[in-house]
Amino acid sequence: MTFLEVKDLRVSIDGKEILSGLNLNVDKGEVHAIMGPNGSGKSTLANAILGHPKYTVNSGDIAVKGESIIKLSTDLRARKGLFLGFQYPTEISGVGYSHFLRNAYNTLSKSLGEEQNREVFLTVREFHEYLNKNLDAVGLDKSFLSRYLNEGFSGGEKKRSEVMQMLVLKPNIAILDEPDSGLDIDAVKSVAEAINKLIDTGAGIIVITHYARILRYLKKLDYVHVVAKGKIIKSGGKQLSEELETKGYGWLGLEDK
Ligand code: ADP
Ligand code: MG
Repeated sequence: MTFLEVKDLRVSIDGKEILSGLNLNVDKGEVHAIMGPNGSGKSTLANAILGHPKYTVNSGDIAVKGESIIKLSTDLRARKGLFLGFQYPTEISGVGYSHFLRNAYNTLSKSLGEEQNREVFLTVREFHEYLNKNLDAVGLDKSFLSRYLNEGFSGGEKKRSEVMQMLVLKPNIAILDEPDSGLDIDAVKSVAEAINKLIDTGAGIIVITHYARILRYLKKLDYVHVVAKGKIIKSGGKQLSEELETKGYGWLGLEDK
C-alpha cells in the first residue's frame, strides 16, 4: 500500500471546481516533481492534502496508509507526518520561531515516535543546537531563532525557513510548493541540498516547481508530473522536466482541452 494516495480528487474553491479528478500516489522514499502552468491547481492540490478549510473536497479521497484523511483537521494530518512548505508563507507575529518548532517537533514525536527513529532532546539547549545545525543547512543564521515566525523575513528567507522547518520536523511526506521561487542561484542550491537531506531520512517528497534547475540538484527524482486544468495530464521521469524547460507546455496540446 502506498503511503499517500490521492484518488480521483475533485476540489473546489468558492464553488468553482479547480481539481477535476486528480490521481497521485506518493510512497515514502519517492521523490515526485509537479509542474504545470499557472493556475492549473498545483497549490490547490497541496492545500487540499493538508486540509486547508478554504478548499472543499467534492468527491474522491485522500488516504494515508489506506485510511481516508479528508475528514481530519490539518493538525491531525500533520501528526500523520504530512508537511506543507507554503508557496506564500504567512508572517505570524507573537509566535516565537524556536518555541514554535520545539512544540511542533515534540508533538510530532509523540505521534510518530513509534514508527520513526526521532532524536529525543532533553533540554532546550540541546534542541537549539539541533535547530542551529538545520539553520546552517539552509544558510540562515541563528539570530532567526529569537524572531517571530516569518515576521520581517525577506522572500528568500521565508523560502529557506520553510525548508528548514521541514528538515527539523522530519515528516513522512513533505510537499514543497515552489520552494525555489524568488531565490538566487546559491539559495536554490542550498534548498535542494536541504531536500537531499530529507531524502536521506527516507521521506517521500513532492516538489512543486516551474524550473528544472532545482530538480537537477536533487540526488533522486522518480517522477515528474504535469498538472493542467486540475488533472495530471502527463507523467515521466527527469527527462520530462528538461523537455518542459526547453519546450514549454504548448506541445502537450493544452489549448485543445
Ligand atoms: P497553481 O498553484 O497551479 O498556480 P492554484 O491551485 O493556486 O494554481 O489555483 C488554481 C485556480 O484556482 C486558479 O485559476 C485560481 O485563480 C483559482 N482560485 C484560487 N482561489 C480562488 C477563489 N477564492 N475563488 C475562485 N477561484 C480561485
Ligand atoms: Mg501555486
